[in-house]
Parts: sequence; structure tokens; C-alpha cells
Amino acid sequence: TASTPDAPPRLTVIGTGYLGATHAICMAVLGFEVLGVDVDPQKVARLNAGDVPFFEPGLPEMLSKALDSGRLRFTTSFAEAGAFGDVHFLCVGTPQKAGSQAADLTYVLSAASEFATHLDRRCLVVGKSTVPVGTAGELTRLIQAHAPAGTGVEVAWNPEFLREGFAVDDTMNPDRLVFGVASDWAEQRLRDAFAPVLAQGTPVVVTDLATAELVKVAANAFLATKISYINAMAEVCEATGADVHDLADALAFDNRIGGRFLRPGLGFGGGCLPKDIRAFAHRAEELGVGQAVAFLREVDAINRRRRARTVDLVRELVGGDLDGVRVAALGAAFKPNSDDIRDAPALDVASTLHTLGARVRMFDPVALDNARRAHPELSYAGSALEAARDADVVVLLTEWAEFREIDPEAMAAVVAQRRLVDGRHALDPAQWRAAGWEYRALGRPS
Ligand code: NAD
Repeated sequence: TASTPDAPPRLTVIGTGYLGATHAICMAVLGFEVLGVDVDPQKVARLNAGDVPFFEPGLPEMLSKALDSGRLRFTTSFAEAGAFGDVHFLCVGTPQKAGSQAADLTYVLSAASEFATHLDRRCLVVGKSTVPVGTAGELTRLIQAHAPAGTGVEVAWNPEFLREGFAVDDTMNPDRLVFGVASDWAEQRLRDAFAPVLAQGTPVVVTDLATAELVKVAANAFLATKISYINAMAEVCEATGADVHDLADALAFDNRIGGRFLRPGLGFGGGCLPKDIRAFAHRAEELGVGQAVAFLREVDAINRRRRARTVDLVRELVGGDLDGVRVAALGAAFKPNSDDIRDAPALDVASTLHTLGARVRMFDPVALDNARRAHPELSYAGSALEAARDADVVVLLTEWAEFREIDPEAMAAVVAQRRLVDGRHALDPAQWRAAGWEYRALGRPS
């Protein structure tokens, strides 16, 4: 049932979460026949029904388009996927292992070994998940051991750089593609599988498997470092009365530095950066080069301190005792334009405030259901103003665009006390102070 040599390859996508569903949908819109496979039958049913199980701007429309084209389906059957595909993208999760800094490769290894038994012809398995360097080699051995004799399956690595909130555009128009391959054949299969993207002139770096695995963690480590760098400067500003906001603005004018990822605040979270830098540091230690990236431990520590310091700032602003204090928490998602709450700084801060006795009422434009499930102990509101009603302090935790538009006068009319902690440096202090608010942000003079 192989597609003919000149026809575009048929694609499977194993693991249809944030990354896999986006990849499957976009590849079908680009004209490929695509089959998505997931072990979660509910997710598969929702996707087949045209319902994206998470919030991602533009993706529901793309899913409808892909399903209407007849080129996209989802299944729970590995056997079906093995028979269907010529190029199989592996997109399962690689979370942090419980009780360790390492990546948990259980899903990758179990998906690959089960899937391999269903392969019936020469094909390419392409890892897209973020993994410790060396995983591709391990997977090659595992898949070749499980695949029926003579199928000639190969492994390649194509790390994924999409950002939640911009996932469709990042997939359709990536900054670059990275192909980690062990043969010319694998490179050609990848070129076939990305032909429409390459035709736009997208740069491609063709390299070995280990380098391709490393590119992804190196990129995330760099971004995390840049964020923690400016937050480290914020800590110094806090000790001196300097203003990190102005400092960041001034640094950003330097073209060698640039302003992106240089915004001070509550720091990074989510399902990628925190676990990726920990797994990278852990893997480097295993390889005997732990010292080379030991600074990532500091990057992580600076980042985690932001959450504690934000809690401290709220406590300070209300006079030192959080017991019974009514807190309006604006934002739950780890960043705007996403409903992802994995390792979300906002929820971390809110639940710590709750533990310290505060009565937290939270609002988020799209992540409320996820937040409610994960933190049933908090209260939730249907709007920012409702969250702020009778609050003793308002804390901005995720920089949603709609929070930037809040009218300080309108919010002043509903709160008990005009006290604001801007955890994301998203609001204009002059405007809020003019409306009678006590405005505080880490790294800025009070
Ligand atoms: P996710 O948890 O949303 O999705 C993982 C999916 O894999 C789930 O749907 C799960 O049911 C499925 N799965 C688990 N075991 C399986 C198996 N044996 N067979 C088939 N499916 C299985 O995770 P995600 O955010 O999509 O991340 C996936 C990978 O991509 C991770 O390695 C992550 O680091 C990387 N990544 C994610 C992003 C992002 O923005 N989310 C960006 C780049 C890279």
C-alpha cells in the first residue's frame, strides 16, 4: 500500500497534543494525506469531530479545512498508522520525570516500540519531540529491533520550534527547518515531506541526529537565559532603586542584544522551557560536561525566585500579612494566547497566596477550565472586573492583551483597595497611579 515513488509521502503523526495536532492539521492543509494517532480516544474523537481540544488561534478553522479536504483523519490504531504512512512524525510528550530533573522518555520509547511492530515497508520515523541528545540513536536501535525483519526503517530528527499562540504561522512559515539525518535517502524523504514549506524559501540546516536534537534544547536554553538575565538585572535594580524597565529599553536599542525575550517580570513557565533546561543540564552531567551548562541551574533558580518575590511583593503591599486578604489574580495561562497551564507562574503564585491565607479569585480569558481542574481550591470569576470586585489587591500574572486595555478608573470603582502588583510589567504605572492606584512591579521604584 506504499504511495508511488513520485507521489508525495503519506504522513502519520504519532501523539496529537499541542505539537502533533498542529503539525497534522497544517500538513493536511498543505496538501498531504495525514493520519494522526493518539492513545487518548477522547482526543481522537474530538479531533475527528472538528474540535481542537486546546486553545490555539486559527487552528479550529484550519482543522475544519483539513477535514473537509478529506486528507486528514485521526485514529487510536497503530496498525492502521503503520500501514498508512511513509513518513511517521513522533510528537508524544517528554515531560520532566517525577522526582528528577531528567526528561521522562517513557512515552517516546513506548510509542516507538509499539508502533515499530506495525511497520511493513521501508519508511522514515521522524522525531519531533524535544529529547535529550542521544535519544535518536537509542530510538534507532529500538525501532530496528521491533520492526519486522527487512523493512529498512530509518530514524531522523526534525526538532520543532513552534510557539503556542502562534503555532499555525510557525508551522506554515517557520524561521528555519532542521533535518537531522543518517543518510541521503532520509534527507530526501524529509525534503519531500516539507516540499511546500521549502518552496517558500525556508532555510534548512541538514545535519546529524545528535546536532538536530541539540539545536532545540540549545535554542530553549538561550531564550530562558535571556529572560533570566533581565530578571537578574531586576533583582539588582530592586536593591538599588534603579528601574529595570528603563534598563531593558536601553539595552534593547543595542542591535547586538535586541529587545525580544528581554522583558522583566514573573519569568517563564509552560510545558517547554523549564523542563527543557533541567533535562539539558541533567543530560550534560550524564555526558560528563555538566560544567558547560551549569549556569542553566542558575537560570532556573533566578526564574523560580521571581515567583517567590512576586508573592513577597503582594504581601508587602498589603502590609505584611496575607491572612484573609482578598486577591484578584488576573491570568492563569503560562502566557497569553494559550490555555496551557503546565508549570504556569500565574497559578504557582496564586496557589502560594492561597496557602498563605489569601482569598484568591482568578480570571483568565481562556485557561479558566484548565485552572479550575488543577486548582479547585481557588475561586474563579467570569471577567477581570468580577475578579476585582471588593479585592484588597489586584495582581496581574499573565499579560493578556485585554488586561492591558483595562481602564484603571473602572477597576478602581469595584475594588476595596487600589493596590496593584503588575507581575508582567504590562501596564503603564503613570496611568494607574493617576487613577489613585498604588502600583508596584518587581525591579521598578515604588
Ligand atoms: P502534549 O502533552 O500536548 O501532547 C502529547 C500527546 O502524546 C498527548 O496527546 C498524548 O495522549 C500522546 N501520547 C502519549 N503517549 C502516546 C503513545 N504511546 N502513542 C501515541 N500518543 C501518545 O505535549 P506537547 O506540548 O504537544 O509536546 C510534545 C513534544 O513536543 C514534547 O517533547 C515537547 O517538549 C515538544 N514541543 C512542544 C511545543 C509546544 O509548544 N507545546 C513546542 C516545541 C516542542
